[in-house]
Amino acid sequence: MKKLLTSIAILSSFAFASSVNWSYEGHTGPKYWGNLNKKFLMCKIGKNQSPIDINKKDLIKACLKPLKLEYNSKAKYVVNNGHTIKVSINNGSYLYVDGKKFELKQFHFHTPSENTVEGKNYPMEAHLVHISKNGEIAVIGVMFKVGKENKALKKFQNSLCKTVGKEKTIKAYLNPSELLPKNRDYYRFSGSLTTPPCTEGVRWYVYKEPVEMSKEQLKIFSDIMGKNNRPTQPINARKVLQ
Ligand SMILES: [Zn+2]
Repeated sequence: MKKLLTSIAILSSFAFASSVNWSYEGHTGPKYWGNLNKKFLMCKIGKNQSPIDINKKDLIKACLKPLKLEYNSKAKYVVNNGHTIKVSINNGSYLYVDGKKFELKQFHFHTPSENTVEGKNYPMEAHLVHISKNGEIAVIGVMFKVGKENKALKKFQNSLCKTVGKEKTIKAYLNPSELLPKNRDYYRFSGSLTTPPCTEGVRWYVYKEPVEMSKEQLKIFSDIMGKNNRPTQPINARKVLQ
């Protein structure tokens, strides 16, 4: 029961702008998240927080198997929830890892990227959020660099608006796999939600190869979200597998 409640709490923290006001700047910004609410304590005292800088010195060569994805459902609607642009997915898309099944619930975006590589941000990062029956969380990160127009983003970019909370149906068929890079090599590490309540125990998988988006597309996303990246957090005792 407790697990179920936790997973409901996690789902609602993704789904709605939290009733406690948090933001990316000023007195409700990342530095103060841990003080805004008792439930946000991990943002302040956690030792395995996300995002991180993925740095050579913390990398360990492991024989990571390709991530097993079965993405069989389509994007349903898109919303600007005041913290991010979030796309909800119909049931039926899964990630299988560590002998467990995680269902893809949504993906959303950060400008610039939250995780960094060798100290550098990419202009944008997508997070694909998966949840298991027990409420465990697995996130796949996809980096974006400026280049060719991105066909997946194009399918809903015209529905984006600055008005917070207005859900728009995505009419085009958009399978979440259309967001992923061709090369599926990835980094793996343990971390947290990058937004309050900063819950730990999140499995993170970040693809090494960035995908492309045009300058115009980047402007559309960053104009709406502003800077919505939590700064990188200390890696502490963690290692990054590749
Ligand atoms: Zn995110």
